[in-house]
Amino acid sequence: MARAAPGLKTVEDATAMRSRILTAFESAERETDPAQSASWLTFVIVGAGPTGVELAGALAEVAMKTLRDGFRRIQPSSAKILLIDAVEHALPGYPLSLSQKAEAALRRLGVILRPQCRVTDVHPDFVVIGEGDKAESIPTHTVLWTSGVRASPLGEALSKAVGAAIDKDHRVLVEPDLCIPGHPELFVIGDLASVKAEGDQVVPGVAPAAMQEGNMSQRSSRAGLRGNSSRPSDTGTAEAWRRSAATPPWLNSAG
Ligand SMILES: Cc1cc2nc3c(=O)[nH]c(=O)nc-3n(C[C@H](O)[C@H](O)[C@H](O)COP(=O)(O)OP(=O)(O)OC[C@H]3O[C@@H](n4cnc5c(N)ncnc54)[C@H](O)[C@@H]3O)c2cc1C
Repeated sequence: MARAAPGLKTVEDATAMRSRILTAFESAERETDPAQSASWLTFVIVGAGPTGVELAGALAEVAMKTLRDGFRRIQPSSAKILLIDAVEHALPGYPLSLSQKAEAALRRLGVILRPQCRVTDVHPDFVVIGEGDKAESIPTHTVLWTSGVRASPLGEALSKAVGAAIDKDHRVLVEPDLCIPGHPELFVIGDLASVKAEGDQVVPGVAPAAMQEGNMSQRSSRAGLRGNSSRPSDTGTAEAWRRSAATPPWLNSAG
């Protein structure tokens, strides 16, 4: 499925995705069969995490504003943008109120949300989605994959080298002080780290969290070098986030 549906992690991915999107509008313009034209104007985004939500919103704005007057035959604003995810709400892992705000904003932009659906097959001309025990085939030539991005292979290497546990996305499970359990000399931070902030909530892979973890691990390793065996627990990532639980800093500044 990966070849038929490009992901979005690198600049090359982004360039390929932009090219696919523009080609879809141009193909719709050239198509004389209305059904075929409609299928070129149907975009399926898989994964309603931060990247999928941002992509769906940006694509809706491109269709409604940027390309509005760029074609003779088609109306780019008639593009159908479907955002599909197996979970119940967009932005899983974020507080429900933020998920609902994001969903309302997407609906205002005309994005069609399809929660609790799984993409089961991707073909050049259609995609198959399953909802419960029902399967639906959606004619489209453009499927954009934003879910299930794996962490760096370094996680797996650490797992083999020191027995670190990794989660399904290959992130390394670390203690609240960002160390691998049993290895106070090994810190893992940023997108490669899986650390719990509030209850079972895992800190999301966003830049503010990565930067805070960088600062914290630096302070902890300095304390270790000075021979202070007790880590500065009051500055510990999870502890600090727990204290500001109502508004975790990485939720305020994630954009
Ligand atoms: C499309 C997209 C949009 C995003 N938008 C936002 C946003 O709007 N706001 C936000 O807060 N966050 C956003 N993020 C997430 C944000 O980019 C990451 O959370 C953040 O960059 C994590 O920082 P990091 O240092 O852990 O990882 P990275 O920024 O990925 O840096 C890791 C670096 O390590 C290098 N590396 C990997 N393995 C090795 C190795 N074995 N040896 C040497 N080097 C290695 C990589 O090449 C890379 O340069 C977005 C991410 C994506 C993909």
